[in-house]
Amino acid sequence: MTDLRSMTTEEITAALKEMGEPSFRGAQIFDWVQAKKVRSFDEMSNLPKRLREALGTSFSLSSLEIARRYVSEEDGTRKYVYALHDGLLIESVFMPYSYGNTACISSQAGCRMGCRFCASTLEGLARNLLPGEMLEQIYRMEEDTGETISHVVIMGSGEPLDNYDNLLRFIRLITDEKGKNLSERNITVSTCGLVPQIKKLAQEHLQITLALSLHAPNDALRRTMMPIAEAYSVKETVAACDAYFAATGRRMSYEYSLVHGVNDSDACAEELAMLLHGKNAHVNLIPVNPIKERNYKAPGHAAALRFQKRLENLGINVTIRKKMGADIDSACGQLRLKVKAEQGE
Ligand code: SAH
Repeated sequence: MTDLRSMTTEEITAALKEMGEPSFRGAQIFDWVQAKKVRSFDEMSNLPKRLREALGTSFSLSSLEIARRYVSEEDGTRKYVYALHDGLLIESVFMPYSYGNTACISSQAGCRMGCRFCASTLEGLARNLLPGEMLEQIYRMEEDTGETISHVVIMGSGEPLDNYDNLLRFIRLITDEKGKNLSERNITVSTCGLVPQIKKLAQEHLQITLALSLHAPNDALRRTMMPIAEAYSVKETVAACDAYFAATGRRMSYEYSLVHGVNDSDACAEELAMLLHGKNAHVNLIPVNPIKERNYKAPGHAAALRFQKRLENLGINVTIRKKMGADIDSACGQLRLKVKAEQGE
């Protein structure tokens, strides 16, 4: 069954036309699904009962249940573990930043990219998320917090560019002025570096921010951390990011997870500065969040600051990511595994 929450007004209108319904119903249904954010056909009170029943037999309506919620006492960050209709679990985070409430959402249940430091990939990919399931992560958060979300980062579990068509559809739907009407500029997509998809995304001419998970300044080191580095060199990956900037004018963001004794040396900082020298780019340093399955450790605060200063002195625009919700701390993808283990007990 097709998910109604993953369809545009035009698509709903066309589908209804085939059912012999008048075209104004398309906009009405889109409003129920994307603006009023209903979770059942029965709630669509301005539709005749027979149409609601007909919709129920032809379409599904993606909706998530909050399986677990952790609220930070320190800064209001909330971490959610959501259950999908088929019982799979995904994670999302609500972060009340000064510039606006930000939702960090998942694009896949699990992930098949295999990055060594990441918990999301430990059990591989279960499945891609539908656009409606990506939207629902945001809608349920707004309902739960009573707050409006103004920024979305697709940095939760999964590789968004490995679910390319659904990602693009999600962006189209969340920026629809009859729906949530989010600005493209307030959306960030983070990728481990699928080069062909980065080049394709550049051609969509969207005003979204692209973040590249670089984590190492050269191929040899990057290959020890991320299997994707076997497929694409640092050079061609950064060239694809240059192409993204050239096509969209959007400043690139490079993420660099600092791992003690692996990629936090002065030599790494210098090599990274050389790689990004003269580019309109921003480097985001993230002290690695250790997972028990791997022996990666975060550098101390002083070492992270030293790495930052080194880059700064070499002309690179760089910040250390502010840690949110330290009291409900856990690395990407860990909560989902934790809740899954508890459910299995
Ligand atoms: N697949 C996408 C988006 C999801 S991960 C990507 O690779 O970019 C979001 C960011 O968190 C990525 O930069 C990822 O490398 C990083 N990350 C994952 N696990 C981490 C951990 N344990 N500590 C620090 N950063 C981590």
